[in-house]
Amino acid sequence: DHGRAINFGAGPSALPLSVLEETQTGLLNFEGTGMGIAEISHRSKEFQAFLDEFEHNIRTQLDVPPTHRILFTQGGGTGQFSAVVLNLLARYRLLHPQASAADTVLDYVVTGSWSKKAAEEARRLSGGVATVRTAVDARVYSKDGKSFDNIPPHAEFAFADDPALIYYCENETVDGVEFSHDLESPAAFPFHLLKQDRLVPLVADYSSSFMCRPIPRLADHAVIYAGAQKNIGPAGLTILIVREDCIVDVDAAAKLGAPPVPLTLSYKTLADSGSLYNTPSVLAIYMAGLVLRRMKQNGGLPFYEEVNRRKAKKLYAAIHEGEQKGVFRRKVQQGSESWMNAVFEVLGEGAEKNFLEGAEKQGMKGLKGHRSVGGIRVSLYNAITEQEADKLIAYMTQFIAEAN
Ligand code: PMP
Repeated sequence: DHGRAINFGAGPSALPLSVLEETQTGLLNFEGTGMGIAEISHRSKEFQAFLDEFEHNIRTQLDVPPTHRILFTQGGGTGQFSAVVLNLLARYRLLHPQASAADTVLDYVVTGSWSKKAAEEARRLSGGVATVRTAVDARVYSKDGKSFDNIPPHAEFAFADDPALIYYCENETVDGVEFSHDLESPAAFPFHLLKQDRLVPLVADYSSSFMCRPIPRLADHAVIYAGAQKNIGPAGLTILIVREDCIVDVDAAAKLGAPPVPLTLSYKTLADSGSLYNTPSVLAIYMAGLVLRRMKQNGGLPFYEEVNRRKAKKLYAAIHEGEQKGVFRRKVQQGSESWMNAVFEVLGEGAEKNFLEGAEKQGMKGLKGHRSVGGIRVSLYNAITEQEADKLIAYMTQFIAEAN
């Protein structure tokens, strides 16, 4: 097993062993070309064919309709914090050339550290041309009045009548808060509050939940984006699903007063060039493409959804048991817990350190919580098998028993 640990880290994170092994081969000789994947031209027909298959595998597994383009870029989730603002301000300007800064509203749903950061970037970029509003701030509904520990009640979401964008982060990686995919749940995204009579510019950050299960109401989104480095590949690749009406002539919009858009951030540049305007992260695309191929062979998203559901269910059961016995404390309110990143505390002096050290002795790493939240964070991305999750859960159960 190459001496590999079980890596529960939040990102970059574990990748399937078979993909890492295949990558070794591809680094030396990519699909019989005699050239390694990090050496071959991104404009070669062999790479183009690989890219086409990768796109096809995303489109078919996620059921992306023909109204939406799939685009590849770099710059991570953070790059998209900027890009969504600039592209959607351009779209809004073309639709409403006379709109004032007060009428040009960017609505942010703030449920954790990443959506908060995205809203801050929107404020930086839109001074004088638009107004950034917090459509809802989850901290107001938290247990302690200051933490991100919940998806707020639907009645508290307040969207503008005709916003330039509505933004949310589907899974908050740091805080362990996620929208429910059961659309009847009070913790689901409140799609029913969106205006139905026009195309809503709904933007979702799926960085840490992309390809872990189907995306509900995908067709109602304007932009969905994800950095690859959680579920599907190494860092360096960002995947975008963009509805056609959001791919606009940003230069025409700039002439009307929208902020100029760097070419590498413009969705139109990416779309017109087939995501090859400049040199893409060829190696990262290769590895993510191998992951998607493997997913397809394993039965696609329905398979991963079922495995991920079981892993999360068993993990939260152990966390709840620990809480009842006074060993753990949950961070996130019931119903808002993330499938991918579970966050909890180990109670008692030095107990967290003991927990981490004991896990490490059994070859389980990457469990320390984000520095801003503390505690333990268990990331259960697709590459963590059910067996590996079970090993951690058995360790937690034993830890609880020994603490009592
Ligand atoms: N959004 C979410 C939900 C994330 O988890 C992260 C990274 N952990 C980011 C955005 C930022 O992504 P990047 O580091 O790729 O810029």
